Amino acid sequence: MKKEVVLVTGGAGFIGSNFIPYFLSKYPNYHVINLDALTYAGDLKNLKEIEKHPNYSFIKGNIKDKQLLLNIFEKYNVKHVIHFAAESHVDNSIKSPISFVETNVMGTMNLLEVARNHWMEKPFVYKESYKNSRFHHISTDEVYGSLGRDGFFTENSPYAPNSPYSASKASSDMLVRSYFRTYGLNVVTTNCSNNYGPKQHDEKLIPTLIRKALNGERLPIYGDGKNIRDWLYVEDHCKAIDLVFHKGSAGETYLIGGKNEKTNLEIAEIICNYLDEKLPQRTSYKNLIYFIQDRPGHDFRYAIDPSKIETELGWQPEESFVTGIKKTIDWYINKYTKMEV
Ligand code: NAD
Repeated sequence: MKKEVVLVTGGAGFIGSNFIPYFLSKYPNYHVINLDALTYAGDLKNLKEIEKHPNYSFIKGNIKDKQLLLNIFEKYNVKHVIHFAAESHVDNSIKSPISFVETNVMGTMNLLEVARNHWMEKPFVYKESYKNSRFHHISTDEVYGSLGRDGFFTENSPYAPNSPYSASKASSDMLVRSYFRTYGLNVVTTNCSNNYGPKQHDEKLIPTLIRKALNGERLPIYGDGKNIRDWLYVEDHCKAIDLVFHKGSAGETYLIGGKNEKTNLEIAEIICNYLDEKLPQRTSYKNLIYFIQDRPGHDFRYAIDPSKIETELGWQPEESFVTGIKKTIDWYINKYTKMEV
């Protein structure tokens, strides 16, 4: 059987590199092309396990390069897009916001344009061989801004992004929506809460805390540590993407979250408690925690009501935080004790 080509962008990053092996092992009928610019955030070591897989190809390239996208669509006859590529670190977006607009907004725009022209004859009319082609846009709950102590984000929450990162992702969501409304492009968007798990870049909260703790360095926590995030194990996110990609309704948005709210301080304490059990030192790792000046515009709380994806598509997270965080810490202990940290 001829395999359908799925263009995955940003597959060498944290979520993409968890998604591709999962997707390849589940679906022998797709060929995945991973297009990644290998910015500081992308690492092909994350994909070692599938680099020789017959249904996998890697292309080093940038979604800002529209001509390259045109060539890829032509040469490989791309049938579907699952779009992860983004500048994703909020702190970097505060220091240098323009690259976030270039990749997250213009890069998404290029992909939408190339997909539309390749797949469609005119608005709302697909070319025969692309009539099932789908564009899946991966986004974040941060587009909805910050919650107070109560309430949850739903698909109907107003957009209120507060950082250049979330504003650029919000803009890309809007472009995706407009391609559905204006051209009838078969799009779906998923907005997910904070992910945790293996293969995340060293700069992010959980890997940073584990690495520094293992090194006996102080553990920096923004502000008073009371900011709340809704944490989801990355593989549960991958399963939700799979479900929405295959079964979600065109033009719809699905929020994905683990109903697992934790303050940043709680996250640090959970990591320290586990390390105290596993690799005890003279004093608790908790003594390393200290508070640093808060991030400007730091959102207080994100929390998702995932009722829509649960009831319409039957998704449920499978990993509990208790087991997921242990697996995650073990993975980073293994990584960091094998290398200079
Ligand atoms: P990441 O930063 O780990 O990976 C991003 C990947 O995109 C990297 O491999 C990088 O090399 C690549 N990339 C960046 N700019 C590119 C460009 N111009 N052209 C081609 N490739 C480029 O990010 P992640 O955490 O894996 O997030 C993936 C997606 O999921 C993003 O769209 C992000 O907004 C979204 N998201 C992330 C989280 C989370 O908790 N990490 C939560 C919700 C949504």
